[in-house]
Amino acid sequence: MTTTTSVSLAVRDVHLAFGAHRVLRGADLDVARGGAACVIGPSGSGKSTLLRTINRLIEPDRGDVLLDGRSVLRDDPDALRQRVGMVFQQFNLFPHLSVLRNVTLALRKLKKLDEDEAVALARAQLDLVGLAGKADSRPAQLSGGQQQRVAIARALALRPQVMLFDEATSALDPELVKGVLAVMADLAAAGMTMVVVTHEMGFARSVADTVAFMDAGVVLESGPPEAVFEAPEHPRLRRFLSQVL
Ligand code: ADP
Ligand code: MG
Repeated sequence: MTTTTSVSLAVRDVHLAFGAHRVLRGADLDVARGGAACVIGPSGSGKSTLLRTINRLIEPDRGDVLLDGRSVLRDDPDALRQRVGMVFQQFNLFPHLSVLRNVTLALRKLKKLDEDEAVALARAQLDLVGLAGKADSRPAQLSGGQQQRVAIARALALRPQVMLFDEATSALDPELVKGVLAVMADLAAAGMTMVVVTHEMGFARSVADTVAFMDAGVVLESGPPEAVFEAPEHPRLRRFLSQVL
């Protein structure tokens, strides 16, 4: 898999409240250029909200998000979302469009590519996620795993510098999880800077450079997978691991 130049990512002391509910309370995260961070933690701890502040689907109340050391908070959000791709648990494909059109749409609208360029790029990207033969299918004709790989291809076609995955395999039947994780692992190996919110501890262990444990709106503990999984320091992380491993 090819990537464009990846960038480093830093989340610095990000705070965010929904009304009186303080969901992020000073979250910090560092991902080196080409690194992969897996974010783990209990439901409601703020993992999705943290991801959404990185590509500015939500604006933090305080703190900063930096790509290669430069704050993105004053950038144009649409331009930023071309640099920072995101894949969700629900694939969010357009059901009435073919797989190919799902991928070309953003290339035409956001990148202003002409039809031939968009189609060529989309086909190449679909090929890379193992779906060259499905270009003319509708999403409903594909398995959930294939649909998620279309969603990944759609994000990658924009040549992002960072990819965010929010429980990308949580809605899939168990036998379909592996194929999607394999695509994500390939992407990490190709040097894409990634933040992956996941319950797949095996993936976190084998693919992540950094594992970050979120609890109550902060990254409570982070480090290389061996340290986080084999020698967790914080009691809350120990309790979480005893429940999921
Ligand atoms: P996680 O992904 O770790 O499960 P989330 O980031 O989705 O956690 O949510 C953290 C908390 O913020 C939850 O209590 C959730 O109900 C709340 N929350 C998330 N999004 C909103 C929103 N748009 N409005 C109000 N509360 C929200
Ligand atoms: Mg979530």
